[in-house]
Amino acid sequence: MNVIVNDTIEIAELLQLPKEVAIVSHRNPDGDAIGSSIAMAAFLRKHNHTVHIILPSEYPDIFGFLKGIDDIIIFDTEPEKSKEIIDKSSVVICLDFNSLERIDKLGRLIDDTDVQIVMIDHHIEPEPFYALAISRADVSSTCELVFNYIKDLDKVNMIDLEIGEAIMTGILTDTGSFRHNTNKGTYYVAGDLKARGVDDYYLQDKIFNSMNEKQLRLLGHCLVNRMEIIEEYRTGIIALNQKDYEEFDIKRGDTEGIVNYILMLKQMDVAIFVRQQPKIIKLSLRSKGDISVQAMARDHFGGGGHKNASGGYTYGSIGKVIRKIKEVLPDYVPKK
Ligand code: 5GP
Ligand code: MN
Repeated sequence: MNVIVNDTIEIAELLQLPKEVAIVSHRNPDGDAIGSSIAMAAFLRKHNHTVHIILPSEYPDIFGFLKGIDDIIIFDTEPEKSKEIIDKSSVVICLDFNSLERIDKLGRLIDDTDVQIVMIDHHIEPEPFYALAISRADVSSTCELVFNYIKDLDKVNMIDLEIGEAIMTGILTDTGSFRHNTNKGTYYVAGDLKARGVDDYYLQDKIFNSMNEKQLRLLGHCLVNRMEIIEEYRTGIIALNQKDYEEFDIKRGDTEGIVNYILMLKQMDVAIFVRQQPKIIKLSLRSKGDISVQAMARDHFGGGGHKNASGGYTYGSIGKVIRKIKEVLPDYVPKK
């Protein structure tokens, strides 16, 4: 049920004359959310639109090097200002998410206005909250879709270093440095950006060699003390509790990427990372090949995402969540 929606022409028509535009992306923004927002904002500003970017919650420090990031408004810290911007905007562009639930209160704010909503996204099963959309689940990232949007309008020459680095960042993070989610178009976009002077080595270094000592030690703790392997379902689970959060003083972004280490084990097909946050238990799920963690996240953990990379949340204790995972695993992962 992955319908391709491509309203490129209609979106370009809507944005033909300068307008007040708000760009919105998802809570806990990742490189793709941030990169696509910065790239789209910079592109639209070149067409004399007045553009504001609003993210529901803070972005990880590692993206601080991106040009244009200082303009971002965080809803959690500036709710009044965010509301003012939404109220005076005539277009809201939703990037890298496809259900208003992913932006919490900001979603209700947008729902209450009669702005034109445009969605550009690459997750499966979009909810129909938009007027116009570009929705493709077969593309690596929203950044790749933003590049294609610009290319389809025959305006690639407007891609400067700010836009190019932002787009490359989203591609690098959503593909894990070209290890998953790629198609031939992804390499085309990366090649084009590199030819335009985007320094991929610089970006890889900024993004992936950016851990501090605490984060590296936390990774060690997860692998040594908090990982359980369920061999018959080729699944690994890492779970962090509230005490771990206190002991390692875990902050937003500190646990990024830990889930992927599980899949480095030979013959692992599913990786699940569970962490006990103040109000909810958050899950990150990864899989290989035909196994859909999206289905598991959707059916049992109020979430979704992509077939091989999804997230969700639940309530209760860590122990209860792990029991639940073990109980439902057989429905999604064939036994060895
Ligand atoms: P991560 O595990 O890196 O936080 O997220 C992996 C993927 O799952 C991302 O594409 C993200 O958009 C999606 N995702 C993460 N958490 C949620 C959630 O609570 N609900 C939904 N629908 N998707 C999520
Ligand atoms: Mn994405």
